Amino acid sequence: MTAPRFRRLALIGVGLIGSSIARAARAQKLVGSIVATARSAKTRRRVMELGIADQVVDTNAAAVEGADLVIVCIPVGQCGAAAREIGPHLPPDAIVSDVGSVKAEVVRDMAPYLPANVHFVPAHPVAGTEHSGPDAGFAELFVGRWCILTPPEGTDAAAVERLKGFWSGLGANLATMSAEHHDLVLAVTSHLPHLIAYTIVGTADDLSADLSTVTRSEVLQYSAGGFRDFTRIAASDPTMWRDIFLANKAGVLEMLNRFNRDLAKLTRAIKVADGDTLFRLFTRTREIRRGIVSIGQDSEAPDFGRPHPPLSPGPLPAPYASGED
Ligand code: NAP
Repeated sequence: MTAPRFRRLALIGVGLIGSSIARAARAQKLVGSIVATARSAKTRRRVMELGIADQVVDTNAAAVEGADLVIVCIPVGQCGAAAREIGPHLPPDAIVSDVGSVKAEVVRDMAPYLPANVHFVPAHPVAGTEHSGPDAGFAELFVGRWCILTPPEGTDAAAVERLKGFWSGLGANLATMSAEHHDLVLAVTSHLPHLIAYTIVGTADDLSADLSTVTRSEVLQYSAGGFRDFTRIAASDPTMWRDIFLANKAGVLEMLNRFNRDLAKLTRAIKVADGDTLFRLFTRTREIRRGIVSIGQDSEAPDFGRPHPPLSPGPLPAPYASGED
């Protein structure tokens, strides 16, 4: 049996992402022990009941005592405050990471509170569902998904490699880029789609509030596949997404400008009955969808393949292959 990659993993926050890390790290024997904490006593109690950590403590400061890997798994707006709490208690040489969906602002918020003798390696696993809380997590969440590391310049290369090894043990593919580039890429691939989903579902709900146009029961009853997919995305956690839009303001506004320009072009095409423009775009976008399926990042299933059908074309690492949790 190979030795665990880390002696003691501390998880600050045990929601969808934190609890999935806990389940997968244990299943893959990547850590000797797991200590976890969450903001509320209710969540901490639930984590204890679920038995996904070896120890559950009441404060962020207590959680990091003796840990050689600390992963902050909380909404991005809270990361600075959490770093301030854990900073003085971090053991020398510990690797401190996070899972935030926005990187530049999280790095700016956390870095000032972390002592020089620890290694700060920010990360973002591009994997998730619209569910939250410790019950929502599952060990396979990261299998075949990308985890993007955004180590600031001068980060210890060995620490980056150790964290890569950990994520790869959870089944993820690894990429490295700057925090700023990450935020621009994710603005278009994740943040803007969520904003559009929140808008369209809000628009339909406003319409249905005005009974002279479309009723709420019509919206629910006749919800076509497209609308249903949007409602799934728009069911994502409000705190997490509020924080993402506030933290990635520049990236989202840049992509929103482009989107508005393209939407105006389509509006014009519809107005002047320019079917060629519509057809050309729809042909191009269909290819994008096919490309995503062909590289194994989604399945053909109409529920968009989440969460359980195998996403990776290759053999899964044990114990996923044997169906154990
Ligand atoms: P979640 O399910 O809502 O869980 C958040 C956890 O953080 C809860 O355990 C919560 O405790 C705890 N928490 C909140 N503030 C805290 C604080 N100040 N100190 C200690 N614990 C605190 O959220 P999630 O979906 O796992 O998301 C966590 C992070 O992962 C976010 O930064 C998000 O951007 C990122 N992310 C999410 C996804 C996704 O699809 N969900 C994907 C990739 C990355 P209580 O329950 O007691 O409040």
